[in-house]
Amino acid sequence: LVEIADVRKSFGAHEVLKGVSLTVQPGEVVVILGPSGSGKSTLLRTINHLERVDGGFVAIDGELVGYRPARGRLHELREHEVLRQRAEIGFVFQAFNLFPHLTALENVAEAPVYAQRRPKAEARAKGLELLGRVGLAERAEAYPRQLSGGQQQRVAIARALALDPKVVLFDEPTSALDPELVSEVLDVIRDLASSGTTLIVVTHELGFARDVADRVVFMDDGAIVEEGTPAQIFGAPREERTRAFLSKVI
Ligand code: ATP
Ligand code: MG
Repeated sequence: LVEIADVRKSFGAHEVLKGVSLTVQPGEVVVILGPSGSGKSTLLRTINHLERVDGGFVAIDGELVGYRPARGRLHELREHEVLRQRAEIGFVFQAFNLFPHLTALENVAEAPVYAQRRPKAEARAKGLELLGRVGLAERAEAYPRQLSGGQQQRVAIARALALDPKVVLFDEPTSALDPELVSEVLDVIRDLASSGTTLIVVTHELGFARDVADRVVFMDDGAIVEEGTPAQIFGAPREERTRAFLSKVI
C-alpha cells in the first residue's frame, strides 16, 4: 500500500534521510521509534509530500506521491494534484492543529465540504459519526478552546479520517498531552488499528507499540537501523543502537 523507496532528504548540507526504504501492507500498523533528530517527522512528511525528496520515491497504491515520471525524469505535480493525493493520507500532528474559530464538527467536516465539494449535510452526518467513533458526539458544537487537549486530539483524529484515507500518519500524537490524557487518545488509535486502518505511528509510547504494532521500525541518524515484530525489537534487539535507545526510554 505504502512504498517508501530509498528516500533521501537534505536540509542544506545536513542529510536528514539517508536512503530510507519501508513498505507498509494494507491494514498494517507500523510504529517508528528513534531518538530526537533521527528523521522520523521528516520521513512522515515526505509520505504526503509536505517535504520534497532529493532522491528515491514514495508511492501509494502504486501511484507516485508528489511527482509524475515524464521523459525519464520526475516532475513535481501541481498543487491541486498534490492536494488530491494528500486527501488519501490522514495526518495527525503532535500539536492538534484544529481551526480555533470552527466547532469540532466543522473542523471534521471542513475538508469534505471545501476540498471535495461534498454536500454539507452529508459531510456533517459523516462528521458526527466520526466524532461518535472518537467518543465526542456530544461535544460536536464545542470550539477547540472548550475542549481538553485529549479531546482536541481526538477531534484531529476524526478530521484525519473524514476523507476516508488509505493510510493515517501520526507524529507523536500524545507527546503534547498531560499524562492523564494520553490513554484516551491511544485508545482511539488502538481502536482504529483493530478496525483494519493502515497506520504509521511515530511515538515514544513503548507500551502502545508493544500492544498494537505489527512491526516496529527503529530509526537513528536518518536511516532505519532495524525493524521487526514488537517481540523481536523489545525482547531481542539485534543492534547495539536499538538496545541503547530502549534502555534509555524504558
Ligand atoms: P523528534 O523526535 O525531536 O521529533 P525527529 O526524529 O522527528 O525528531 P526530524 O524532525 O525529522 O527528527 O529532524 C531531523 C533533522 O532534520 C534534525 O536535525 C532537524 O533539525 C532537521 N530539520 C528538520 N526539519 C528541518 C527544516 N525544515 N530545515 C532545516 N533542518 C530541519
Ligand atoms: Mg519529530
